[in-house]
Amino acid sequence: MSKLADQVAIVTGSGRGIGRAIAHSLMKEGAKVVITDINEELCQQTTKEFLEEGGQAMAIACNVTNTESVKAMVEGVVAKWGRIDVLVNNAGITRDALFMRMTEDQWQAVIDTNLTSAFKVAQPVLKVMSKQRSGRIINIASTTGVHGNFGQVNYAAAKAGLIGFTKTVALEYASRNITANAVAPGFIDTAMTQALGEEIISKFVEKIPLKRMGTPEDIAAAVLFFAGPGSYVTGQVMEVNGGLYT
Ligand code: NDP
Repeated sequence: MSKLADQVAIVTGSGRGIGRAIAHSLMKEGAKVVITDINEELCQQTTKEFLEEGGQAMAIACNVTNTESVKAMVEGVVAKWGRIDVLVNNAGITRDALFMRMTEDQWQAVIDTNLTSAFKVAQPVLKVMSKQRSGRIINIASTTGVHGNFGQVNYAAAKAGLIGFTKTVALEYASRNITANAVAPGFIDTAMTQALGEEIISKFVEKIPLKRMGTPEDIAAAVLFFAGPGSYVTGQVMEVNGGLYT
């Protein structure tokens, strides 16, 4: 029997990158996965590929910064599959700049997409999970939210906020048999980090004890741990960082 058979999982920002790998591994464990991303074409393409593999998936485009869009997505999932067992708040962006030069737009875009989005998506989802008396919330934070990082004050604040959000949701929903945990990735090979260029990437990799960038599948493995049934772990932050704790 697959670990997540008949369970319904929403992964935000799952058109590509880490979100796609998370949705894929949940699907391989038997879950019905909701591929939701701001980019409709990417949503459809990923869903098509998953269905061709024989999994159960549906595409619903959704902008996690837009309350109406989120509401429609959650209602669409419940209308089609009747329940929500796993929510992975993964959608995220960077708008890097040293603090002195950071604009208010760069600050706000990152807070809205990486932090306020979790509030917008988790609230309607937790209503459904509360009625079920079961659920798993998994937030994709970052080592930057734990340790800070040059040029990322907006991102660090949003991800640290997401960790505080996780710990509080864990406390408030434990009585409903709902867990909330965070995965804090280190330096992972996706479009987000490829944008930094080869030179910066190899400097980072030198500092990583395991001497490689992480893969989206490395993050998916941690998410799968938290998504599993019968867990006694809640309010936890797992760093998946190749051993680099700075
Ligand atoms: P990618 O940029 O590769 O993928 C992010 C996805 O989220 C994209 O498909 C993007 O769409 C989508 N997205 C962006 N904004 C929104 C929105 N408003 N609503 C819905 N979807 C949206 O990033 P990664 O896969 O690298 O990152 C995934 C998560 O992991 C993020 O939260 C990130 O902060 C976190 N993380 C990543 C690390 C890394 O090293 N890569 C390290 C630590 C944390 P579009 O392409 O159209 O913008």
